[in-house]
Amino acid sequence: MESCVGCGAELMAMEGPTHPFMRSSAACWNLFGIFMAKEYSEPAYRESSALAVDCYAVQHPGPDNRRANQWMATRLMSLCLVLEYSFEQNQASAAVSEMIRQFHPVFDRLQPPADRGHVTIQNVAVAQTPVAQRQWVQQWAESCWQAWRPHADQVRHWLREYKLVRA
Ligand SMILES: [Zn+2]
Repeated sequence: MESCVGCGAELMAMEGPTHPFMRSSAACWNLFGIFMAKEYSEPAYRESSALAVDCYAVQHPGPDNRRANQWMATRLMSLCLVLEYSFEQNQASAAVSEMIRQFHPVFDRLQPPADRGHVTIQNVAVAQTPVAQRQWVQQWAESCWQAWRPHADQVRHWLREYKLVRA
């Protein structure tokens, strides 16, 4: 077994690719790939896919470079919009993408928390029904946001600065 450097999931060690700016074990990235393939192939599962991407992203911080920092900032902003501002998942992702197109912002790196939350892809990937999966993704999101709470004020500030929510 091998512990994922990002989320801590304990999975059977394997060789394989990982994402350039979401650091993980190969096994964790592979499991996320299988999970997302199911999300996209079965409409009943697709509802939670945008939020699942946000969760996976914030549990797997990358190197300190512009792309990785922007990816982390935007995934946290999307998570915050869903959990604190009652945005629909797809609406949050679309709003954040539009903000990037409009402002071309550069984000500072946020120091990732040591504890990234107790729910991981390992829990979510084994859900047997669309309802169970949605519930797990919701718990995953809440657990991730809780883990990132030292930076929550910065994320809310960005949401106001880039006019995603009212000041
Ligand atoms: Zn992981």
